[in-house]
Amino acid sequence: MLNKSSKNAYLSAICLFSTIVPFYQLSKSSFVRSVQCLKQLYLYKNFYHLKDPVSKDNQVIFNRGTNIGILAQQLFPGGTDVSPSSIRKYDESVQRTKELIAAGANVIYEAAFVFDEVLVALDILVKQGDAWHAYEIKSSAKVTRTYVLDASLQYYVIKNCLPSLDSFFIASINTNYVMGERLDLHKLFRFTSVIKDVKANMPYISDRIAQARATIANGDMPDIPIGEHCFKPYKCDYFGTCWKHLPENNIFQLSTAGMAKQVEWYRTGQRMIASIEDKEELSPILQIQINAVKENREHLEKEKIDAFLASIQYPVGCFDIEQFSPAVPVFTGTKPYQQLPFLFSLHTIEAGNELREDHFFAEAGEDPRKAFLLACIEKLSKVKSILVYGAGMEISILGMLAGEFPEYKEEVLSIQNRIVDLSHPFSEFWYFHPKALGSTSLKHLYTKYCDDNSFEVLPVNSGATANYAYIELFEEKDLFRKEELKQQLIGYCKTDTLATAKLFQLLVEKAK
Ligand code: SF4
Repeated sequence: MLNKSSKNAYLSAICLFSTIVPFYQLSKSSFVRSVQCLKQLYLYKNFYHLKDPVSKDNQVIFNRGTNIGILAQQLFPGGTDVSPSSIRKYDESVQRTKELIAAGANVIYEAAFVFDEVLVALDILVKQGDAWHAYEIKSSAKVTRTYVLDASLQYYVIKNCLPSLDSFFIASINTNYVMGERLDLHKLFRFTSVIKDVKANMPYISDRIAQARATIANGDMPDIPIGEHCFKPYKCDYFGTCWKHLPENNIFQLSTAGMAKQVEWYRTGQRMIASIEDKEELSPILQIQINAVKENREHLEKEKIDAFLASIQYPVGCFDIEQFSPAVPVFTGTKPYQQLPFLFSLHTIEAGNELREDHFFAEAGEDPRKAFLLACIEKLSKVKSILVYGAGMEISILGMLAGEFPEYKEEVLSIQNRIVDLSHPFSEFWYFHPKALGSTSLKHLYTKYCDDNSFEVLPVNSGATANYAYIELFEEKDLFRKEELKQQLIGYCKTDTLATAKLFQLLVEKAK
């Protein structure tokens, strides 16, 4: 049997020139998992089926990354795409990459290499003169440490297969770019050379590969307790497996405790809220939650709620905006990731407590901003107080619209001045019942306090999925699907404002 160094030499030698298809143990994805947690790698290799389902929000991010990668290929035209026909057929890509390099190709998309039993694929590989240059495309605006770590692994493998690899660039989105009449890809992408960092990381990469391979060879599950690492750099796919032993009313359900403190409690055996010993040293908000859980009773600060409610005037409008922020601008004069509002819902509560819903939806295609602003001004003129649950995004979008349409500055100011943030009494825990332990988000509180799981069953049920659904509308040709997406978006926004109205009515009830 080959020892490690001779096997590396063997794989290195066959990498470019042999027709033997090399095998691999690690991909970039499994390597990244191993760096986050060796137990995660073990589960991924041995119990793949236990993986948590991919959330709709994460699926949106994956799709966005793929689309941007394909767009960036236009910067290096004339290349050959060697993407595998299926995820299980990466050996074909490795083989095709070898053949193209041997045949004198200058540009390869999704070039794949294996070295040290590690498989990597690279977005774009370009030859200039005798040197090769690597380009990895990211749909985000920043070059993060995680991206540099990914690039380091890619460099490690590719450099060993292709010694004339000379440079490594990460392309990210330039958020200062303002689109003119046409999209300029050279200005949309910003290229950052990471060659110095990736070279410096080589000993670390080699060491981490050895650790990962040892974990796979060993066959025993590493004994790693849950902790902060389960969320860094990403929420682990085996969260559902490793965290499921925690029963209801555990310390990780406390809002505002901070993960470091929660892990400290966990590691000292204080796993249940009832078992927390140093309660007096904690913030008032934490003490409210702990006492309410221990005594299984609600907490109500009537005077503060009364003062809050006294600032609200009828008719009340419960308001929510949906925006889309495409990585690649679609309208002249806009920037990547600029927030563009396209939908709002308004549930009006008259003094008698009846609810009425109204909304505005901008059909995908035209720049929605002016029509959206005019609809806001018109519909919000009919209510006095405007209730928003977590008003930061709404206030900022309205401010942006006032900057773009200064002739409506006064009207926008009047709207902003009437906005009241309904999340305040809940995030300050002026009202709290232990059944809502875990989060102060609108979705969570509405589900728990109003006993309605509408958000869970909605096909569009988050800002991220709404963003993507609207972007999808620009491309969609099927009129039936278009209408379906539109109704899903409106349904989500309406549920947000209905939930806001119901939580407001709950506070009014509690204050009686
Ligand atoms: S949930 Fe945490 S402990 Fe479990 S595999 Fe993932 S990172 Fe490791």
